[in-house]
Amino acid sequence: MFRWQQAEGKRHALDGPFAPRPGETFTALCGAEVTVARRDVPQLGGHWFDPTCSDCADEWLRQDGQARSNEERCPA
Ligand SMILES: [Zn+2]
Repeated sequence: MFRWQQAEGKRHALDGPFAPRPGETFTALCGAEVTVARRDVPQLGGHWFDPTCSDCADEWLRQDGQARSNEERCPA
């Protein structure tokens, strides 16, 4: 499951069931390894003012499209 997470100045996307917590490092869809800060977590008073990582957005669409075409090829 893909989700957006702001970290180190950009809003990246990651594949995982949980949002990372402050201090945790994750590998974004674009390949960047980034660490989440407290200001990156809206529940802790952070704001997602940073720009969306376009590489993550491209990768999200690519993998999303792939998953969909796989479903079409192999109907359960
Ligand atoms: Zn990214």
